Amino acid sequence: MPTLAQRGADQSATAAPEADDPVKTLVGRLELEQYKATVKGLTQFGDRRQGTDRNRMAVDWIEAQLKSYGCPTERIKYEYQPNPPNTAGRGGAGGRGGAGRGSLPPGGGRFKGVRGRTGVNTDPMAQPDDTLRALNMQPTEPGPREMVYCTKVGTTHPEEMYIVGGHMDGHGWGEAANDDGSGTALVMELARVFSGPDVQTERTIRFALWNNEETGSQAARAYIAQRGPMQGKEDPPGSGKYPEPKWLGMIQHDMMMFDHGMPFEDGTISKEQRREADVNIEFQSNSKMAAESQKLAWIFQDANEKYATDYPAFVGRHMTNTDSGPFIDLIAAISLRENERGAQIGAGWDPQWHQPTDVFATYSDKDFRLGLNAAQTTLGGVGTLTGATLKK
Ligand SMILES: [Zn+2]
Repeated sequence: MPTLAQRGADQSATAAPEADDPVKTLVGRLELEQYKATVKGLTQFGDRRQGTDRNRMAVDWIEAQLKSYGCPTERIKYEYQPNPPNTAGRGGAGGRGGAGRGSLPPGGGRFKGVRGRTGVNTDPMAQPDDTLRALNMQPTEPGPREMVYCTKVGTTHPEEMYIVGGHMDGHGWGEAANDDGSGTALVMELARVFSGPDVQTERTIRFALWNNEETGSQAARAYIAQRGPMQGKEDPPGSGKYPEPKWLGMIQHDMMMFDHGMPFEDGTISKEQRREADVNIEFQSNSKMAAESQKLAWIFQDANEKYATDYPAFVGRHMTNTDSGPFIDLIAAISLRENERGAQIGAGWDPQWHQPTDVFATYSDKDFRLGLNAAQTTLGGVGTLTGATLKK
């Protein structure tokens, strides 16, 4: 056992380099007001439903922002033909879960406690704001689709990369502010920080703003189909350029802001953030890459302990229903969220989910700050994994 004095000496010895930690400096470049402004910018396109002009305008706007940060962009093009429309409206009313309530949460686990209502709003008149209702009025049409991504090329290992993602499409006749403006803005803010003129990373980072998540992650699937086979190939040979670096991991962000706890017995939700609010990092235990994904999840929990200012993070094993899904049998894949997707969001813990109330004005600074803490977590984790440094 060391004496207290020795411990103090040890701590100062390990603390010294931290003062000079470039990742900490980069995390410090994330700001609440900037994060809010980026979410706000996305909400000008309403619910950004796939297959509409408002969705295409949002893709253009995101691309212009990424370029303005100095992050070079490219697009994935694909075709979307929907299955016959799902006419299911909102799910059941609130009430205590358990046997007789039927379904288990997607991705595994069990519903516990009080469940609130879930489902997708398809009624325009449920949106009380005339202007927003008009903005969201154009219906979706099958056909060509696009998504945008941008890339920070690594210095010593440009041939390897991490993919940081969020989905820019939404639905429900609101502004898709939380689902998933909050994750989209997080990815954009990370692209901004990592694209700083004094920032370099040893490995490559790709910032992906998926489209068509709400219809089954068709953009992520198109990305895998089109670019998966190109991984790690130098092109042209001898150029030192890798159009598609080898995928080391995928970190998805989907619904980052609202952690107000379990519904009350009447199905309503607290107006206040719960005091135990946290970031939920999930991997999928039922996948080929479960061991690697779990390891990645712990790295991000460590990054949260080290770099996030206000909220802790916890790891769960039932990642589901977002764009990291198509990657789970290919590479290490995790998602960061406000709650567990299956047993909590799936049980109605987020009353704005796919509803007209998912608008910027619904959220408090505490909610936005939870999203910012997820940004700090991912920036810390990805900055560490890719060897981020600052040019002197
Ligand atoms: Zn989502």
